[in-house]
Amino acid sequence: MQEKWTENDLFLFQHLISDDNDLEYAVQQSHDRQFPEHEVSKTQGMLLSLLIRMSKSKRVLELGTLAGYSTIWMAKAIPDGGQVVSLEYEQERFELASQNIRHAGLQDKVQLLCGPAAQSLQTLIDAQTEPFDFIFIDADKPNNPLYLKLCNANSEDPKVKGVRQFVEDLGLSDRLDSTGLQTVGIKGYDGFTLTLVKA
Ligand code: SAH
Ligand code: MG
Repeated sequence: MQEKWTENDLFLFQHLISDDNDLEYAVQQSHDRQFPEHEVSKTQGMLLSLLIRMSKSKRVLELGTLAGYSTIWMAKAIPDGGQVVSLEYEQERFELASQNIRHAGLQDKVQLLCGPAAQSLQTLIDAQTEPFDFIFIDADKPNNPLYLKLCNANSEDPKVKGVRQFVEDLGLSDRLDSTGLQTVGIKGYDGFTLTLVKA
């Protein structure tokens, strides 16, 4: 099974995704340091880019930077004057991501915050940071329900218990329209939830 999923993904990459030196560089640097290969795949990166452009999002928040691979995809998708704020708690990853973003010339569009995501989110809330148009939650999955609550300060969420609770919470909120997609590919079995905060 995995072999076929990978083969199909490689076909999609070849035909749909142009080479991008900044993205290749970032992922190479990450793998050279033996960081976990947890970055989104190329087609998932393009999905983020398309969603951001289709929704005309300008302000993007990311939880879980790793080496900045998805951050770079998203920074390239927003218009000039837009911003990606990305949260990472591992110092070495934060530092490499900073380098990769500088290498890509995207430092004016990206702000990286080093620290536990929940703490950084609270800091952003306390500072009354301008709302975000698009949020990519890709850090530690058990905290997804907490992140949903912090990213969506007005929702009434019950208890916190991993992705299952996260999906249950999404379903309970009247403010949110959500879907979940199960995917297979080079990264094996994977998935996305996609949520729109209703106007
Ligand atoms: N979005 C990245 C991949 C992120 S992997 C990409 O597609 O390129 C998940 C990252 O979340 C890891 O780098 C991990 O260190 C970070 N992380 C895990 N728990 C975290 C937490 N509580 N606060 C901040 N970052 C966290
Ligand atoms: Mg993943």
